[in-house]
Amino acid sequence: MFLKHLECSACGLQHEWSHLQNVCLSCHKPLLAIVDLAAASRMLTRETLATREKSLWRYREVLPLPDDVEPVSLGEGGTPLLRASGSCRTDDIDLWIKDESLNPTQSFKARGMSVAVSMAKYLGATKLAAPSAGNAGGALAAYAARAGLEAHIFMPRDTPRANIIECRELGAQVTLIDGLITNCGAEIARRKAKEGWFDMSTLKEPYRVEGKKTLGYELAEQCAWQLPDVILYPTGGGTGLIGMWKAFDEMETLGWIGKKRPRMFAVQATGCAPIVRAFEAGEKIAAEFPDARTVATGLRVPKAIGDFLILNILCQSNGGAIAVTDEEMIRSAREVGSTQGLFVCPEGGACFAALKLLFHAGKIAPGEHVVIFNTGSGIKYLECYEHRGVSPDGLLG
Ligand SMILES: *Cc1c(COP(=O)(O)O)cnc(C)c1O
Ligand SMILES: [Zn+2]
Repeated sequence: MFLKHLECSACGLQHEWSHLQNVCLSCHKPLLAIVDLAAASRMLTRETLATREKSLWRYREVLPLPDDVEPVSLGEGGTPLLRASGSCRTDDIDLWIKDESLNPTQSFKARGMSVAVSMAKYLGATKLAAPSAGNAGGALAAYAARAGLEAHIFMPRDTPRANIIECRELGAQVTLIDGLITNCGAEIARRKAKEGWFDMSTLKEPYRVEGKKTLGYELAEQCAWQLPDVILYPTGGGTGLIGMWKAFDEMETLGWIGKKRPRMFAVQATGCAPIVRAFEAGEKIAAEFPDARTVATGLRVPKAIGDFLILNILCQSNGGAIAVTDEEMIRSAREVGSTQGLFVCPEGGACFAALKLLFHAGKIAPGEHVVIFNTGSGIKYLECYEHRGVSPDGLLG
């Protein structure tokens, strides 16, 4: 293992990795893992990767967890990068879909949880807690079960039934809250000291980002080390964006890729678009989005603790932020289903809807190499797809 220490993403303060840590002890912003890349590069090369197992643990040298510790794994990562066919490729965009629905528990949350649960267990946590409005809960429940740890999951009462049932069947203790994911997080914060829970909330512990950064490593490997021109990413807490950007920097230091970066676009729902609002206003942080509503539960994050990191990446990459309506995302998801053979989640559908808007606005040029992340499976969102011809807005309750 080449993990050196944890570093605050805002004030730079160093923290020890060798015991359980949440956020920066000084400014309470997210901590990021700093890897000794010079040492890692002597053990791991682009060529040696080719012979390894498919799971994200193929990037072991750039991930935390001591070498002699077995990861908590269900075979996460190694998902296909599919070339879009037919109508989704009109206008000659060179469009590819990274299909994350093939992960354990059917979403990319598995990546973060595999690494975070592995580290939490190794560092002695026994009770893990997280708020979730959708897929994070199922992933935490699965990896906690696999690790022999308790999972305590707080979900808004209107979370899709599949997510709630999945968590319970995977042995988690589920508490339903009348409110949003932010209210669920507040409940955990209030009770965790007394209950002895370790808080696994997005960006409130350092290792979910490490798992998600493998999206960036995998993408580079699958693109023969030539990053795409544009990435469209459905953004809630932003872990994936932050993780990928970290991976790109790490790979440049490793000498695996050059300086070129994709233009990163955060895709949100018009009913919950704090990042889009802040980006358009040129702000460095994003204010809480009032009365957040969208069927895309992964995007229903009215306030992200990593907002300043997300906005910085969008600016630095010369990308942007764009919101689409629930109706547009469901319509696009259906189009993807019937043209690509992929039953995508609404968050994935949102990226396809955003692609059209960005293309027509001239923000993406003909011939550009574009990658869309389908972050999860439509199977978890049957409520959104049940009524054909009915506006999904009518299902919000
Ligand atoms: C959690 C989630 C997202 C948002 O991911 P972040 O990395 O937290 O921004 C997008 N899509 C789906 C399906 C999700 O479950
Ligand atoms: Zn700090």
